[in-house]
Amino acid sequence: MSRILVTGGAGYIGSHMCWELVGRGHEVLVIDDLSTGHESSLPPGAILLRGQVGSAEIAAMLAREHARSPLAGAMHFAAKARVDESVRLPDLYFAHNTQQTLALAGTLRDLDVPWFILSSTAAVYGNTSGDLIGEDHAVAPASPYGESKLRAEQGLRELFAKRGGSLAILRYFNVAGADPEMRTGQSTPEASHLIKLAAQTVVKMERAQEREPKAGATASASQMIIHGTDYPTPDGTCLRDYVHVMDIAGAHLAVMETLAKPREPRVYNVGYGKPYSVREVLACMREVSGVNFPIVEGPRRAGDVVRVACDSRRLQAETAWTPRFANLEVICKTALAWERRLAASTP
Ligand code: UDP
Repeated sequence: MSRILVTGGAGYIGSHMCWELVGRGHEVLVIDDLSTGHESSLPPGAILLRGQVGSAEIAAMLAREHARSPLAGAMHFAAKARVDESVRLPDLYFAHNTQQTLALAGTLRDLDVPWFILSSTAAVYGNTSGDLIGEDHAVAPASPYGESKLRAEQGLRELFAKRGGSLAILRYFNVAGADPEMRTGQSTPEASHLIKLAAQTVVKMERAQEREPKAGATASASQMIIHGTDYPTPDGTCLRDYVHVMDIAGAHLAVMETLAKPREPRVYNVGYGKPYSVREVLACMREVSGVNFPIVEGPRRAGDVVRVACDSRRLQAETAWTPRFANLEVICKTALAWERRLAASTP
């Protein structure tokens, strides 16, 4: 059993990670400012330090905690993660995702915490070419969000080149779904991602139906908009590699096992390599929910790339990672089950 730092542990991916770690007998120390996370998402026994990861207050708290019981390593999930917001507020993204990350990494270096895993993103690749994207694909972020993560990657590489210890960078593709046991899920109400929005749309229609069972007009209670139908893809809509959040947590567990001994910094893409179109995702959500929510065709969304699909061969070759939920139906079903649960707990 080890003691592991999980920043953003009360958030979407971080909370799944905490449950997985605790389930394997580890102790988790969480840093979260609760700006989008919820304390109720944490597993029993998790210790929460509330604040900004790079602040002096958190550095002092970490030093005390580390002296009491040493940290084996850190998984850093805390970040700003909305592409559209990053276009409006780039400085906020560089402050949080780059500067705060490097300040935290500096504190952990001073404490000699052996390893660090950074949550990064396929957004660092920008517009991609070729079939599957490997880690050596050129990086050219198309948004300040992607750029802020890339700069964090670069800063960490420099820091680890000097300090020793192990660094791993995980670049996630489109994370979706929820814990099948419903211990946690994506609770951020203003999420902008396709599967979360489709699940919210289903639940809105179901609630409207409950309130006014006879009103056929409830069909207009909510709808999904497809952002662009003229892309050069088989059905005209964008293709994405949707990966279940539990497989993201599983990738961290598998990578963590390789970091016990110091090693060169390593980058891993995390995804399945099988992309789905927007139309396919919406059809799947209609199918698993039994709710035929309206689908409207809209114009392209600024900044969207046509096709993103992951080559995860490096992760599979160098670690024991085996995807357990590589199935769009399971992703949609668990996302929907979580959304229904959230709706049931709010009046
Ligand atoms: N999308 C859509 N309607 C929505 C939300 C998303 O058509 O209401 C599309 C979006 O344009 C993109 C894909 O779904 O092609 C995935 O978008 P998402 O925001 O989930 O992830 P991204 O790949 O942008 O990080």
